[in-house]
Order: sequence, then structure tokens, then C-alpha cells
Amino acid sequence: MNNLFPVLALNSNITQLIKKIPSAGILENIKEGLNNEIRFIDQNSPISDVAKIVKFSTDSKSYVSLSAAYCQYLWLMCSIIIRDIDLSVIIEECKRCRVTLEQFADCSKQVLNQPQEQISKQIPLEFKGINLEQYIDYLKRIPELLNTTEFCRQQEYYMKLLSELTNKETFSLDDFSDVNIKTPYGEKINSVYCFGICFILLHEASHFSLGHMDKESCAIQDEKDADFSSFWSIYSDIPESEKFSANCGVLCALFSLLYLNPKIESDNIHPTEDDRIFKVYECIKKDSPKYTVLLVHFFMYWAKNYQIDGFPTNLQNTEDSVDKIKNFLAEYKKIKA
Ligand SMILES: [Zn+2]
Repeated sequence: MNNLFPVLALNSNITQLIKKIPSAGILENIKEGLNNEIRFIDQNSPISDVAKIVKFSTDSKSYVSLSAAYCQYLWLMCSIIIRDIDLSVIIEECKRCRVTLEQFADCSKQVLNQPQEQISKQIPLEFKGINLEQYIDYLKRIPELLNTTEFCRQQEYYMKLLSELTNKETFSLDDFSDVNIKTPYGEKINSVYCFGICFILLHEASHFSLGHMDKESCAIQDEKDADFSSFWSIYSDIPESEKFSANCGVLCALFSLLYLNPKIESDNIHPTEDDRIFKVYECIKKDSPKYTVLLVHFFMYWAKNYQIDGFPTNLQNTEDSVDKIKNFLAEYKKIKA
């Protein structure tokens, strides 16, 4: 029996992260009446409302309400996509080197059994510049991706859970009890996930600190400003070593909102999800080519999973593909409007 979503075990990691982001001004906000704590909703039900600021009627204090079901949703989504991308990179590399996945798995096991200096001697010339510790760490994490049967079983199981989180009829909290958030590979997912939740929370807190709460109606510009403020607080305060996870987390959070609204129906409050994604992507794309890989994969997954007609095929991980996706989305939204 399970009475909580497994992902809630990561709540303290999120609190630690938020402390690393002073420019978000969370501490000042608390003084001005935003309550420190987060109130969880959807503790044993599908997602109702991702996150919002709620004002107490008794005093002027506000608090952030966050959906526990959404947290689980985001974690599963990060897991499905990041595993998928990592495995496809490994498969590509195996093809290039003409080895099978099994050979690669055996080989990486052997490498891990050797002392560090021995390993560094064996690294092919073209990879000489890599950080050895990161490389060894990587080899320790990936075995759970290399068993194809197990990999597919888990992807399917997680996908089933994703749909349960948006559907009252099929939802059962017990189905989530096999989700293991504490595997070696899972640590990477957890870090990306925590940054994603941070982004969502800081977005809400920004509405408060930017003075949007006193307005009668919410403007699209307010939503853009809240995204901007949340993204830059994270981007500017997080040390270089964590920036990649942080940026992936922000992208994952925005993509999760797209997956929750796959037909991109406008709510007349927020900019459409794809616009929010590209805003952030434009800010980070020069930092690493991996963001393009992530973006293209996320959109391909969206098109496949929600059967989006006419989505471009044979996309490579290039800026050219990003342009094709943008053009497609412009048409897609025009037809719907
Ligand atoms: Zn907002």
C-alpha cells in the first residue's frame, strides 16, 4: 500500500535548491506576506491545477499551492525523455564504432573494474579532453539503460502512469508504488526534476514579487515576465557545474505543460506553451548543442504520443530542424485558431 507519490521524497532537495537562488527574492517575499511553505494538493488524485498562488481571506498572506500529482508527472516525463535521449546517443555511438549494445555493456563493465589511471590510458584520442570522473560516473549510471527488454518495459510502465495522472477513471495511487526514484541513473533525473519544480515555484513567486497580485485581471505580459524572472533567477544564481541540469529542468517543466495541453489550446492568460519553450531555448541554445537535441526530441515525442498530423519527419538534431518545427507550429496554431 502506498499513500504518497514516490516523488515527494525529493521535497527537501527542492528546498535546498531554492536556497541557492537568492535573486528570486523568496526570503523577502516571505516577509511581505507570501507564506514560506508550499501546500500540496492532488495528494491522491490526478492533476487538477499545476500551481497557483492562493490568498487567505483571513489575513493578507498568500501561499503557493502545488499539485503533488503534477510533481510525479514531471518526474516521470523527465525520466522517459532523458532515458530515451541517452539511449539513442549510445546506440548511435555503437553504430558508429560498429559494436553491439551487448558488447558495449560488457566493455563498460570491464572498464569499471580497472583502476582510474588504467582507464585514462585507454580513452581513445578523440575523447582525451573529457573529465575522467564524470566519464566513470556516467559508465556507472548507464547499465540500467542497456538491457533493452527492461528498458522498454519501464518506459511503457511510466507512460501508463503518465496517462493515469491526467485521467480520473484509470487512476490508482497503488500503481505508483513500483516507481523507484533512487537508482544510480535516477539521480540525474532527480536533479533535472528538482530544477523543473523550482522553475514552476519561482514562476508563481514572481507573480507575487512583481506585484501582479494586486491587479484585477492577469495579462499575458505578466506571464511572460514571470517566466523570464524565474528562468533568469535560476540561470544567474546556479553554479556552472549545475547549469546543464538546471536548464534541462526548465525546459522539461515547460514541455510538461505542453504535454498537459497537447493540442495547444490557448487559455487567453498564458502565452502558448511552444512560445514559452522557445523563449527559454533562445537564451540557452548557444551554451551547448545538447539543448537542440533535447528540444527536437521533446517535440518529436509530443508529435508521436499525441498523434499530431503533419509533423515533420526525419528530423536531425540541428537548428534547421528547429526551424522546421517552428514553421510547423505556426501553421498548426493557425489552423486551430
Ligand atoms: Zn503565471
